[in-house]
Amino acid sequence: MPLAALRSLDTLWFQVAGTVCNLACTHCFVSSSPTNHTHEAMTLEEIVPYLEEAAALGVREFYFTGGEPFLNPEMEAILARTLEVGPATVLTNGLLLDEARCARLAGIAAGAEYSLDFRVSMDGYDAAANDPIRGEGTFERILAGIRNLVAAGINPVITVTEVHDENASAAGKRRFFALLAELGIARPRLKVLPLFKIGAEAERSATYASWQVLRDGDAADGDWDHLQCSSCRMVTDQGVWVCPILVNEPSGKMGATLADTLDPFPLAHPACWTCHVYGVSCKT
Ligand code: SF4
Repeated sequence: MPLAALRSLDTLWFQVAGTVCNLACTHCFVSSSPTNHTHEAMTLEEIVPYLEEAAALGVREFYFTGGEPFLNPEMEAILARTLEVGPATVLTNGLLLDEARCARLAGIAAGAEYSLDFRVSMDGYDAAANDPIRGEGTFERILAGIRNLVAAGINPVITVTEVHDENASAAGKRRFFALLAELGIARPRLKVLPLFKIGAEAERSATYASWQVLRDGDAADGDWDHLQCSSCRMVTDQGVWVCPILVNEPSGKMGATLADTLDPFPLAHPACWTCHVYGVSCKT
């Protein structure tokens, strides 16, 4: 069984909204939804000790996901506190980015020593492609959120999945760039992510075949440093997991504190195959 050593703990994730979301996307590998309480939202008080431990361990950057992070009533205070320690990125579906919130976020960013970045998810360059995955009417609501960010002076990264083959094609990317230009974004930032065949996505399409697992010889030199888990950990309200992908897997939990989670991790889950084959890194 391959083992991924923790080369250095560069990136710390927070499942800051738990698994609760205002959407129930049909490809969500965490199966987040309005009724999924597998993990609950984290409070600022719960997060601060992890920030302090992370600073002592040399963590370089922080990511916030869910669920939908802006369902967390303390999200803005959490960001302000995090930015005292390092740069932060929020992964959001964009639906709760109204004008007032975007102005406050821009203010938080302007007053911080470190950078604050946003990733807004969509699954098609029009409603016909996006809404069957994310929900009726979501395309227009996502665009409204992006417009509000742009009006506040924030240029978000747009993340799309390969739920439609076209999303990863040159033609598809051109359509996304044209859409972002219409929204006033002169320098578009687009990131295309593969799908993990777990959670809701396993029900929408298919789960992994038995051969889709990692074996010792799959990394020619036995070096698994290209995997996210060689440089990150994920904090939820229930402890620390190896990575953002396996938060619903009991085997992915490594301990209660960051210090508990510095050992190598066995790459036994088929989702690890996707990370290796597609070179997945949520943070780049
Ligand atoms: S799913 Fe990916 S990041 Fe998580 S343990 Fe497996 S290889 Fe590492």
